[in-house]
Amino acid sequence: MNPDCPNMAFSDEMATPFAEAVNKCHKVVLTCHVNADGDALGSTLGLRKVLINMGKDATVVTPDLAPTSYAWMMGFKSLVCYERQQEEADKLLDEADLIVMMDYNDLGRVKTLGEKIMSLSTPRMLIDHHLDPVVQADVMISRPHASATCQVLFNLLLAAGFSQFIDEEAVTNMYAGVITDTGGLSYNSSDPDIYILVAEMLRRGVDKAYVHEKIFNNKSVKQVKLQGFALGRKFHRVEKYPLALISLSKEELERFNYTTGDTEGLVNIPLQVRDIKVSCLILERPDCVKMSFRSKGDFPVNEYAAKYFGGGGHLNAAGGAFHGPIDDAVDLYQKTIVDFYVRWMKRTAK
Ligand code: 5GP
Ligand code: MN
Repeated sequence: MNPDCPNMAFSDEMATPFAEAVNKCHKVVLTCHVNADGDALGSTLGLRKVLINMGKDATVVTPDLAPTSYAWMMGFKSLVCYERQQEEADKLLDEADLIVMMDYNDLGRVKTLGEKIMSLSTPRMLIDHHLDPVVQADVMISRPHASATCQVLFNLLLAAGFSQFIDEEAVTNMYAGVITDTGGLSYNSSDPDIYILVAEMLRRGVDKAYVHEKIFNNKSVKQVKLQGFALGRKFHRVEKYPLALISLSKEELERFNYTTGDTEGLVNIPLQVRDIKVSCLILERPDCVKMSFRSKGDFPVNEYAAKYFGGGGHLNAAGGAFHGPIDDAVDLYQKTIVDFYVRWMKRTAK
């Protein structure tokens, strides 16, 4: 057992494939999902820093532009965006001897970057916490019970004996991932081990107050105004059911000078209502209508997202997409969520 973290989820043997891949590589490209969040960026930028501390060359390639709300994260400026800097990213991927796929389980989550990854015979490693990975990798580290990919990564690094390479910058990014994916340890964090892990992170120098300020109190005025508009004018309940809906059209988003990340956290707010169990945010994006779902208790929004919107995710946080007019996406949600909810109530005899 590693004395640094007694209750970690990995035995030294379980971490061996990870340790071997890391020891062998020289040039690494780390990738995460579209519309990166704190866990996607925390895990990739955290591992990048650890690899650099080990004397390796490591770069994070994101499929699309990472939201600027995470610009405070250490290493953010080093991100290479596949959509915007494809030539540079292709060169990095062509020269890499290891590609790490973090915080996603399906190449559908990385847009055209997925096709590039599949075209290469470079060894791949997956580190993730989503259910049922469909992506294939030479080293598969999938922990669906973990709260965050950053939790998996931190435990792995300790079990692999790489503790001395985790500096303050790396651990701060990993802590940020745990905090984003658990809403500041409020949901998806019932496992007591997460608190031992957080204690170990703080012991290593994370400035908790700073990270919480950056994650939870870092909005712009236009973001708060958009939130006010969305809650005041666009928040509806679906008939008599405990199901909420907010939809924002392209025109409405433009009125608030919207940029990616501006609606982050908005989908959670309807769940603050006592008897709302499911919340849905529908956003008209240039390429599709983006669907975001959140739930309380054991209502499986990931199943619903997969069934009607070609998506997936976690039990209480999932997403998907709709290809067509936003009004049709709203109609489809209103029609199908009631049916799904009623069937689920019967199935679970509630
Ligand atoms: P969000 O609503 O914040 O975009 O996504 C919440 C969670 O749902 C993400 O962490 C991710 O696991 C999942 N998710 C979001 N969009 C998609 C999607 O289009 N496909 C799949 N498979 N999962 C998604
Ligand atoms: Mn995550």
